[in-house]
Amino acid sequence: MTQELHQLLLKYYGPGGRYGIYPGLSHWQSNLQTGQWMSHVKDNYSPEEGVDLYIHIPFCESLCTFCGCNIKVTRDHSEENTYINKLLSEWAEYKNKIKTPVIRSIYIGGGTPSYLSIDSLNFLLEGLLKDVSLHHDFHGTFEADPRSLNKDQVKAIKKFGFDRVSLGVQDFNQKVLDNVNRSQSLEIVKQNTTMIRAEGINEVFYDLIYGLPYQTKDSFNDTIDKLKELNPDGLSLYPLAHVPWQKKAQKAFGIYEPLNINEKISLFISANDKINKMNYQALGMNTYVQTDSVFINKKKKKELKRTVMGFMSSRSNILIGLGVSAISHTPTSMIQNEKIYSKYLNASHLNNSIYFKSHLKTNREKLLLPIFEKLICNSFLSKSDLEELDLWNKTIEIFIKLEQDGLVEVKKEGLYVRPLGIYFFKNICQIIERASLS
Ligand code: SF4
Repeated sequence: MTQELHQLLLKYYGPGGRYGIYPGLSHWQSNLQTGQWMSHVKDNYSPEEGVDLYIHIPFCESLCTFCGCNIKVTRDHSEENTYINKLLSEWAEYKNKIKTPVIRSIYIGGGTPSYLSIDSLNFLLEGLLKDVSLHHDFHGTFEADPRSLNKDQVKAIKKFGFDRVSLGVQDFNQKVLDNVNRSQSLEIVKQNTTMIRAEGINEVFYDLIYGLPYQTKDSFNDTIDKLKELNPDGLSLYPLAHVPWQKKAQKAFGIYEPLNINEKISLFISANDKINKMNYQALGMNTYVQTDSVFINKKKKKELKRTVMGFMSSRSNILIGLGVSAISHTPTSMIQNEKIYSKYLNASHLNNSIYFKSHLKTNREKLLLPIFEKLICNSFLSKSDLEELDLWNKTIEIFIKLEQDGLVEVKKEGLYVRPLGIYFFKNICQIIERASLS
């Protein structure tokens, strides 16, 4: 499979989004009128479904030179309060529209959520959960930097019902980490993992990145081998997005250029082989979970869900993103908050000044997102799903070609994604998307 997968990854290599939202940001029309977004939130809300919250904490104490996130590098912690106050006032604008909302999930990402002092974190969580109720299936995820996470923070999130910490591990090789300005030891990741579990948080996920300068097959294999002992519940294995024209810090890679596509694929395949031989199953879209995980269970029952944050065991129809650059989503429309920190602090939903971008979905776009979600979460699309959009006949010939490559199986009842095909979800979604435009 290794050689075959390498050839196929090369053959199908190309740009494209992750289909966690649709359409992707570059296609948004910024065509929402004042007040329209809040009406959509209100109209799509039901207490049974609840809402999902994404909270963006942009602060980082130092800059990792590979980073593509919207961040504010500062060691001045006095800014935390101003920011959280603003974030909570944004949340209050939503709570004016939906009284006592039911919260289905909270995902605190960044930047670095573990940058926050314990007082700031408690202030944030208390503010978020004031005058709301929690959904019976509530889940909470907290992204953390192993260099700043502490026991008090873990105790605080546990108290508020969070059940997952996602640790930014990236790599265990010191030379690779030092070169991207991230001094972080294996020991600290180990200590964090043990501490999170001892505090009763059920799931510890790791983020890893491949394609960094100085990474070799041997060095990255060594990183993957260390997972055996640490035993995280899930992994994200992201390729480096090398875009120095957008992210100037990437120029700090110096004379060592990131790996070329062949080297990058080799690194991925070797890591993927090792991970699959451990107690993990690939879900696709760079995600691996332990074989007895709730995600696998949900996938078997065709109940797995997906949002812009990745796979979820459950989700509502509404994602409310709070904070600078955060993305929000309803079945009808989407917005992205102001991306410039100082502008976000002074912006509001009342006059639309908070929106960096917005998008009112077309009927085609409204129907396509659930199709992409079903495909990626269930590895199956029924013929009727595609026929409803008049896409079965338009795609069948292309899917037969993919079948010859062993990626899918076309049957009379629909399209099955084969185990090899889960590495090509993006390509399959692109085929459907292009057909929908023809
Ligand atoms: S990788 Fe994480 S810690 Fe590093 S700069 Fe980006 S958001 Fe901050």
